[in-house]
Amino acid sequence: MTARSVKQLIRAHAVTEGAGVTVHRTIGTPALRNLDPFLMLDHFGSDDPDEYIAGFPDHPHRGFITFTYMLDGHMLHQDSMGNRGDLRAGGAQWMKAASGVIHSEMPQQTNGLMRGFQLWINLPASEKMSDPAYQEFSAEAIPEANTEGERVRILLGEYAGQRGVIEDPITEVQYLDVALESQHTFSHTLRNDDSAFVYVFEGSATLGATPLPQHSLAVLSPGEALALTAGPDGARFILVSGKPVREPIVQYGPFVMTTREEVEQAMRDYRDNSLVRKKAAMRSSI
Ligand code: MN
Repeated sequence: MTARSVKQLIRAHAVTEGAGVTVHRTIGTPALRNLDPFLMLDHFGSDDPDEYIAGFPDHPHRGFITFTYMLDGHMLHQDSMGNRGDLRAGGAQWMKAASGVIHSEMPQQTNGLMRGFQLWINLPASEKMSDPAYQEFSAEAIPEANTEGERVRILLGEYAGQRGVIEDPITEVQYLDVALESQHTFSHTLRNDDSAFVYVFEGSATLGATPLPQHSLAVLSPGEALALTAGPDGARFILVSGKPVREPIVQYGPFVMTTREEVEQAMRDYRDNSLVRKKAAMRSSI
């Protein structure tokens, strides 16, 4: 088996989004425009009660999936089709915007804390104008694999014979939240040609001889075998992989299509109030 190594290390870049919210972006910056099928990764977090109050008021999406994972705090959300909910700590939301969704996402602190991730997953052209769909599950519904020195939460895909409750059938994304004790080594097998990355958000880790500092994203080389070792203070990271779409990407903000004409159509539809075509179906445990 070929071992995965670090192909590129990206330092998070502070970006202002929504109504003045600072997020730490890695995928979707000049250093890494995309990592097919991943279009963007934002890590949001605050321990300042005055920050994040504004949140992300009504905004559109078309042509891709947003996947939101809350670590601390919670996120009130509401969309133009009547869905609303409160994504709590440890819970995750998979929203296939596809042909169009307009929604608001308002992060809230709990005991002064709010932390999470949002990942944008591209859709192939054949799925971009399909109907929107939601899957949202609370922390209790997310399976965990606990063994000596490690705890793995399975958000998407499979690990150690357990399957996550949220299905990502198109690009078959695997999304794990891995916590390791000091010096523990985590080993895993990935599909050889899947795009894959690791983002360390607590402690530190090494992959081969490469140190992975906190708040850095490591793009992995192709291969199957992956081994990561926690630093002296342990490590917590997300490990995400998925099948590349291998199609042109034409993006204008929240519209991601395969041609310029389709992006212009999305802008016209949004302006004409016809972006939202169908109410999303919801699968949820909340
Ligand atoms: Mn959004």
